Amino acid sequence: MARCDQGYLCEVCGDEVEDITQSDLYLRYVIGELEARALLTAPERHITCHPFVAQFILDERFPAQTCEGAFHKGSLDDAERQRLEDLYTRGWQRLQVVREQGVPISEYPLEDCRRPRPAADVARD
Ligand SMILES: [Zn+2]
Repeated sequence: MARCDQGYLCEVCGDEVEDITQSDLYLRYVIGELEARALLTAPERHITCHPFVAQFILDERFPAQTCEGAFHKGSLDDAERQRLEDLYTRGWQRLQVVREQGVPISEYPLEDCRRPRPAADVARD
C-alpha cells in the first residue's frame, strides 16, 4: 500500500505535519523553490521548524520567528531581505487558501514563480 494512515512526520520535531498550511515542503513548492515531484520524495517539516524560512513570513496570523546565527535575515542586504520577505509571505498566504479554494496542485505556485517544465528532465542520470 502506498498510502499511509498517518500524515507525514516532521523531520525536525517528529510530530505530524497535519496539513499543507503548516508544510515547509508545500510552501517552498508554492514559491517555486521545489518541483512538484519533490512533494513526494523530500522530507517534510513544519514551517515553524524551519527558522530560515519562517523568519521571512510577515503575517499577523503567523507567529513571528527568528533564525539565530549566520542565517539570520539581518545578515542579508536590505534588497535581498525584502525580496525574500515578500516572496515567503505571499507564498504562506497563498498556502492558507489554495486547498479550500480547490486549486489543483499544479497551480499552487505563485504566478510569478511557476517553472517552465524542464524538457530535458528525464535525461538526467
Ligand atoms: Zn516540526
